[in-house]
Amino acid sequence: MDHDTRTELYQQVILEHNKKPRNFKKLENATHSAEGYNPLCGDHLMVYLHVNNAQTIEDISFEGDGCAISKASASMMTSTLKGMKIEDAQKLFEQFHRLVTGELDPGQEENTLGKLAVFSGIWHFPARVKCAILSWHTMKGALEHQQTVSTE
Ligand code: ZN
Repeated sequence: MDHDTRTELYQQVILEHNKKPRNFKKLENATHSAEGYNPLCGDHLMVYLHVNNAQTIEDISFEGDGCAISKASASMMTSTLKGMKIEDAQKLFEQFHRLVTGELDPGQEENTLGKLAVFSGIWHFPARVKCAILSWHTMKGALEHQQTVSTE
């Protein structure tokens, strides 16, 4: 994929998920939840998870206010993690973290990022990295029983 195609795809995905965010609601039967802040941008969201006895994320959702990138990233995260084992979600967190900080090149290294690879160029914009990773840190915090998570 050349640079222009990738930028265009990234913009399309952000716009589409921002217009129609997936799993944008409160989860009434959540077993885990946390509140995430990104003071740098003003993004503020809640992430809810329902983890079953088999340590699988049976359901996951989010709600809150934030910029297009934070919202689109949360939307994509919830659709990716639904139905996934906790340990696989944690592995994916590590990969996503390395992706947005520019350590993982999805074209060079084997990974399970799938559609999340559209965020690969974001490390060129350090201020936006925190927007993209906020929901992921909040999800991880929720699994570790933290109530609030801040990117600062
Ligand atoms: Zn933001």
